[in-house]
Amino acid sequence: MSDVIVEVTGMHKAFGSLEVLKGIDLSVRRGEVVCIIGPSGSGKSTLLRCVNLLEEPNAGKVVVNGFELTDPDVDIDKARRTIGMVFQSFNLFGHLSVLENLTVAQRKVLKRDAAEADRIARDNLKRVGLLDKVAAMPSQLSGGQQQRAAIARALSMQPAVMLFDEPTSALDPELVGDVLAVMRQLADEGMTMLVVTHEMQFAREVADRVLFMDDGTVVEEGPAANVIGQPRHERTRSFLHRVL
Ligand code: ADP
Ligand code: MG
Repeated sequence: MSDVIVEVTGMHKAFGSLEVLKGIDLSVRRGEVVCIIGPSGSGKSTLLRCVNLLEEPNAGKVVVNGFELTDPDVDIDKARRTIGMVFQSFNLFGHLSVLENLTVAQRKVLKRDAAEADRIARDNLKRVGLLDKVAAMPSQLSGGQQQRAAIARALSMQPAVMLFDEPTSALDPELVGDVLAVMRQLADEGMTMLVVTHEMQFAREVADRVLFMDDGTVVEEGPAANVIGQPRHERTRSFLHRVL
């Protein structure tokens, strides 16, 4: 199997006359952590949403874990199962317990039996430090705990890659650290990750590669020490100046 888990080539996306992605090339290799940084409105969320076809690109090719998602004949549901997505808002099902949040798609989509789904859910809750919350309802959890549960839910599908869209942006500052610690642990375990983040410290320490996006293009990419530490482009420098 190929070592490239995510491959995006020549991706364009417009909403009406608004061109949001203007030819994006991106690849993520197995076990790699790639962070995307850039100003609000530069197209970061749209890019992630195009990677798992929550949005349909106007042009370009997306291959994830060997599935060409942009092939009209692809089994999109099957392909999407290899992609875990974590959003800024936690998106747990409010009427289901934490455990049920983690088992429902395993049973309905992957057809796992209840005992196996339960075991995998508990393993992943343990991984994010929430085993004591199996029976809790989402409303009884802090924002940070809800986000960790959302990560555990995505992991329970055993995806080939995890996409994160600003997973800590909606959290109170004191809860950010626990979520970043979980993501750091996943990275250490070898999870393939594509992470949109404003957490420059996290990107510096965890990312194998950083992409700086502005106005629908990748302006610069490379090791964090270069892109964040010694940016080559004026646009990168002025963005970092504003956020650091
Ligand atoms: P970022 O995540 O970098 O802040 P987004 O990808 O969310 O940027 O948005 C990029 C641009 O696309 C913005 O101008 C935004 O308003 C626009 N946009 C995003 N989604 C839609 C949509 N569904 N319909 C119309 N415009 C959209
Ligand atoms: Mg966004």
